[in-house]
Amino acid sequence: MQRSFNRASAFGRRPSSFGSRKPGSRPVRSSRGGFQGQRIDPTRFVKKAVITEQVEVFVPEHKFADFNVDTRLKTNITRKGYVEPTPIQDKTIPHILRGSDLVGIANTGTGKTAAFLIPLINKVLLNPQENVLIVVPTRELAIQIDDELRGFALGMRMFSVCCVGGASIGYQISNLRRQHNFIIGTPGRIKDLMERRFINLARFKTVVLDEADRMLDMGFIKDMRTMMAAMPKERHTLFFSATITREIEGLINEFLRTPVRISVKTQDTAKNVDQDIVRVNNGKGKLQVLEELLAQPGFNKVLIFGRTKHGVERLYNTLVTSGFKAESIHGDKNHARRQKALKSFKENHIQILIATDVAARGLDIPDVSHVINYDLPATYDDYVHRIGRTGRANKTGKALTFIE
Ligand code: ADP
Ligand code: MG
Repeated sequence: MQRSFNRASAFGRRPSSFGSRKPGSRPVRSSRGGFQGQRIDPTRFVKKAVITEQVEVFVPEHKFADFNVDTRLKTNITRKGYVEPTPIQDKTIPHILRGSDLVGIANTGTGKTAAFLIPLINKVLLNPQENVLIVVPTRELAIQIDDELRGFALGMRMFSVCCVGGASIGYQISNLRRQHNFIIGTPGRIKDLMERRFINLARFKTVVLDEADRMLDMGFIKDMRTMMAAMPKERHTLFFSATITREIEGLINEFLRTPVRISVKTQDTAKNVDQDIVRVNNGKGKLQVLEELLAQPGFNKVLIFGRTKHGVERLYNTLVTSGFKAESIHGDKNHARRQKALKSFKENHIQILIATDVAARGLDIPDVSHVINYDLPATYDDYVHRIGRTGRANKTGKALTFIE
């Protein structure tokens, strides 16, 4: 059944591809552990947002009601406010319901989470013995998916355990001892729990590798292999990524069997993000320029990216001293503090969140008014991920990149 909108769907037009990485454009790790990065032409940081009405309208083939899933699940989908499927959901859900292995390529913010959660929750409803493993690159993402799962599985007595690093392993172990159908976690912690024999992947016949490209970038390949090797050969494997590179193709061949491929990624950068540069010269310090910007009207919910943990923490201290309401997230902060910072930003208790690139992938923060690249991103891919945190769900966002 076909339905159309009179405005552009929020989701068909999402940003863009994280264009495939060109050979030789990888950031190089310096001997001190920092990134030297690639040189990116500053003109690539300048772009006017495209008015969404001009783009063609996506007409989903299905309504949620059309999917062959349990009515309780449909009720929860409606309760979450989802009216119709996004393109990736529209195209992947029927295949996943049929049990096909699947590769889904779509940009950030296009609704990939529900694309796999909806059919997999239904699978568990049909067979309560079914176990599902969801592997993601970061703890924040795991927690976000766990929250979504709770929303979709409300009232179904279906349980999940979130197994992520930086959080109490004892708590995770005690949850693993209780009934659960889903494990959502990061590769390192899952492997740790496997070695300690609290997770037995032989019992898991369904696995989702979400943000697989990011996991590869973060060096999780060995842990991914360990996990996949511990799973039954006869299994249902889903693989989501924003980019397709040769390495990613290699992983697909290694882990999946004749997968269905669905790709809905289109443009090159975030179409609905106004992008501009801010030149800072010797006269006026970078910090002063930043503080002046932050004091302007409209800078309500600002995500600032810095290159290093140390730099992020320093900028955070400076801004707080200047009287701004800010928090920071980076790898040196423990899990609880990162979650707390993220929560106050999401819930608008603070104006500013200062982050390293860990925050750039996958996180869904509503209504970010501005992304500021205080330090240049290491690669253009990183740039696209960073600015993809604004202009989500059909809203226009602004991105500013400081150029010295
Ligand atoms: P991705 O994993 O592709 O980056 P997410 O799954 O995080 O995207 O979804 C981005 C946002 O869009 C989330 O806030 C999610 O709740 C919302 N969303 C997803 N699917 C729909 C839908 N069909 N209708 C409305 N909102 C949706
Ligand atoms: Mg996602």
